[in-house]
Amino acid sequence: MKSQYRVVVIGGGVVGSSVLYHLAKMGWKDVVMLERRRLASGSSWHAAGGVHTLNADPNMAALQAYTIDLLPKIEKESGQNIGFHMTGGLTLAGTPERWEWLQSNYRIFQSIGISDCELLTPEEAQKRCPIMSVDGVLGAMWADREGYIDTTGTVQAYAAAARKRGAEYYEDIKVDSLHQTSDGWIVKTTKGDIKCEHVVNAAGLWAKQVGRMAGIELPVSPLKHHYLVTDSIPEVANSDFEMPMTVDLEGFTYMRQDQNGVLVGIYEIDHEHWAMDGAPWDYGEELFKEQLHRIENELMLGFQRYPAIENVGIKTWVNGAFTFSPDGNPLVGPVPGKRGYWSACAVMAGFLQGGGVGKTLAEWMIDGEPETDAWSMDVARYGEYAENKRYIRETTGQFYSRRFVMSYPNEQLPAGRQMKMAPAHDAMTQAGCRWGVSWDLEVPLYFAPSDDFEEKLTLKRSNAHEIVAEECRAIREGVALLDITGFSRFEVTGENSQAWLNQIFATKLPAPGRARLGVMLSFSGRLKGDLTLLNWGDGTYWIMGSYYLRAWHMRWFNEQMKYGVSIRDLGDEICGFALIGPKSHSVLEKVAEEDVSNLSFMDCKRLDIGLVRSNVARISVTGETGFEINCKMGDHVALRRILLEAGADEDIREVGFNAMLSTRIEKSFGIWSAEFTQDRTPAMTAMDRWIDWEKTDFIGKAACIAERNGNGPEKIQVTIEIEDGDADASGYEPIWSEAGDMIGYVTSGAFGHTVKKSLAMALIEPASASVGTHVTVHVVGVERRAKIITPSPYDPQGVAMRI
Ligand SMILES: Cc1cc2nc3c(=O)[nH]c(=O)nc-3n(C[C@H](O)[C@H](O)[C@H](O)COP(=O)(O)OP(=O)(O)OC[C@H]3O[C@@H](n4cnc5c(N)ncnc54)[C@H](O)[C@@H]3O)c2cc1C
Repeated sequence: MKSQYRVVVIGGGVVGSSVLYHLAKMGWKDVVMLERRRLASGSSWHAAGGVHTLNADPNMAALQAYTIDLLPKIEKESGQNIGFHMTGGLTLAGTPERWEWLQSNYRIFQSIGISDCELLTPEEAQKRCPIMSVDGVLGAMWADREGYIDTTGTVQAYAAAARKRGAEYYEDIKVDSLHQTSDGWIVKTTKGDIKCEHVVNAAGLWAKQVGRMAGIELPVSPLKHHYLVTDSIPEVANSDFEMPMTVDLEGFTYMRQDQNGVLVGIYEIDHEHWAMDGAPWDYGEELFKEQLHRIENELMLGFQRYPAIENVGIKTWVNGAFTFSPDGNPLVGPVPGKRGYWSACAVMAGFLQGGGVGKTLAEWMIDGEPETDAWSMDVARYGEYAENKRYIRETTGQFYSRRFVMSYPNEQLPAGRQMKMAPAHDAMTQAGCRWGVSWDLEVPLYFAPSDDFEEKLTLKRSNAHEIVAEECRAIREGVALLDITGFSRFEVTGENSQAWLNQIFATKLPAPGRARLGVMLSFSGRLKGDLTLLNWGDGTYWIMGSYYLRAWHMRWFNEQMKYGVSIRDLGDEICGFALIGPKSHSVLEKVAEEDVSNLSFMDCKRLDIGLVRSNVARISVTGETGFEINCKMGDHVALRRILLEAGADEDIREVGFNAMLSTRIEKSFGIWSAEFTQDRTPAMTAMDRWIDWEKTDFIGKAACIAERNGNGPEKIQVTIEIEDGDADASGYEPIWSEAGDMIGYVTSGAFGHTVKKSLAMALIEPASASVGTHVTVHVVGVERRAKIITPSPYDPQGVAMRI
């Protein structure tokens, strides 16, 4: 072992080994992986080894598909047998809602290029897995690329393939501590010190401690998990084909063949955390005793699903631990505020996600950004609030217990809730507000007409549909009040603010007293932000955006910081209300301490509103006249009271974000995580119309110009109108041409309550993107006719917001 490397990867489980392999493959050879015991001596050795593509999050499904395709290549490259059994796999639906969900996901998979799936009747499923009873099964999805691997063999194969490509790894070396230097890290190990530029935390069960070595509290915790392996089952032994990997979602179990028996794994509703501060250092390859009291119910369901198990003995019990983040997705990428410290942990399913995690991290380290949109696994999707132990316990526990439980888009889950609330929260609750959550903050969804109104969970339109319709009417015809604490606000100061902002934004900066859309790009010319820039005219700028991106944007700002500029996240200090609607201007005039009649679209100024000092901008994502009124946290209650009193004669109505999302799609205004993501470019998303091509330089300019001079993007943004039904599109639904070819997919959808149409925004091949083109789209699995329409079906000339 040398005393200096470019990268030290800490942990020789499946994830560390995959990171090492991908770094070496992509050209960084001066890398070493250190393992305190033997390879795969954390969670990795006792995993069930199952691999499958299904994941409710399409980005994670794509990552899993990459890993599955990679596994045979690793075997070939390393010469190490990984015991890959590509049996194919079944996912069962045991309730009508689940069957609806599975059909919907079958279509979404087509959008993201997973095309080896088919939907089966219970009888067809039973033929493929004859030891299964299909009692209660309504349908199933089959996927060709599912099966299982030998876990230790797979870790060894990744490591051996990495070594063949020039990387190094060493066993029996423990990292004891980490020390940051001006140009990297000193890694203190049981066999001496190593100097390096980058460290990667791939310490699995010990990720928490390896985080703490650098002063980082990662939101991760181990939980225990059971599976059993049976003795030989005659029906299995006598079968001339292998049983497929089978997931019974309503039964909370997964099953695969193991020799002539089967392995049945259980996602226990009665979950149990273990070693929340990280596994003990002397924990080795031991397991916990099985805890039958926690799995009785699931086990009974498992026996009913696979009756043959009841007639044979149980050969082995495994009760082991593996790690989870609050939303169950990995924590990957550069840790904010710790230059050269990379996270590759909380990988719940290392064998099916580890390949994709390794690839993503290696691209990030080498190229500065991953090739695909890594948001759903980015370590910076969480903020400081997620360091809280109770938050971690509640959310990871909730995720674990609900791993196989059906989730609905309009469902509000209880873990980690009521943490941060806007000051007017209680008053709004009394007024009927129903809350959702963004990051750590409670955000208003809509205002229910009565205390006993109960929103029903559904994949389709819910019974809150008409309430949202009324709120949209207030926005379009009267005056509405929306709590906008759930926006992010950054303050930029310093004499070189303008120079710095000009660098990081591809758009023109606003003049004093004006606001402007700020498009931010990465170095490769892909989107990094759809923000609003506000110039308060006194040398201070604000950047406003989505609240849940606070840590993510701040990491980027800090990474690009120069010229002595200072940036401050105001998210815990400033909140506010949006006053929206054709009557909003006259309501504002009543309470503003100066004449605001001339406040035009995109103007911004500091204003006294009643007794509240505020920062006001005349902007609204609804496409209506609207004012975003920002105030200090302490003034929030008063501001609400003042505005409600002033608007009383106009029947002012409080509204939530559901109404805002409906009105914005009627304007074809894109939003982050739907139309705008990190893997899309300005030309794809029509953001290129805002770029200031004359500017001397900005991040991403060269790539942007290359795109402009090229052949054009493969897909472009369009608005579509879908024949009405009982559900609206939500995202990733495939779009088909009349000839039956898949030509694109939905980026977001909603019902436009003003235009009374089911609308969606979509990315479509340019050749099929002309207005009037008829297409079909699958919404919740059902084929619906649709057509491409002129953008902004409501007020296409943009008159309403400028009046
Ligand atoms: C019962 C069970 C069944 C499972 N079934 C599946 C399945 O079917 N499919 C699937 O994909 N996943 C499954 N998993 C999950 C899977 O095991 C994990 O996702 C995976 O092992 C995580 O790998 P890792 O490399 O992140 O962590 P680990 O495997 O925990 O590896 C971390 C490594 O880091 C080393 N290390 C830690 N600290 C240091 C240090 N300071 N210095 C040096 N070395 C250090 C450890 O010794 C360890 O070897 C299962 C897990 C369990 C418990």
